[in-house]
Amino acid sequence: MPNYSQRSKDKLSSCDQKLQDIFNEIIKHVDCTIITGHRGKEEQNEMHRTGKSQLQFPDGKHNSDPSRAVDAAPYPIDWKDRERATLFAGYVIGIARMQGFTLRWGGDWDRDWQVNDNKFDDFPHFELK
Ligand SMILES: [Zn+2]
Repeated sequence: MPNYSQRSKDKLSSCDQKLQDIFNEIIKHVDCTIITGHRGKEEQNEMHRTGKSQLQFPDGKHNSDPSRAVDAAPYPIDWKDRERATLFAGYVIGIARMQGFTLRWGGDWDRDWQVNDNKFDDFPHFELK
């Protein structure tokens, strides 16, 4: 059974308990990494400046403390593999729903189950609704 590195555990611990519950279940089934949990002011504004986020501090879901968003990706990481990202996202969203939680994914912001109409792709991003 896969498990998180200490680095992933530390990042996940900066997230809302609901996200911790979801991703502590996910790791039992899919080897993945937690890329980002809480994000502070400097880091958020740098992400915005470089076009990796559309939001400035404190408007991002990563900016609340604990974080209402988490960035995660399955191993092996391939940022260009939309199909694989979509498979992982469907799995994560399903596990969350089984636990009673609703997530919004960065590959389907409007949650219409159409992934080809997504204007701004942020595949690792999951946030609590
Ligand atoms: Zn994110």
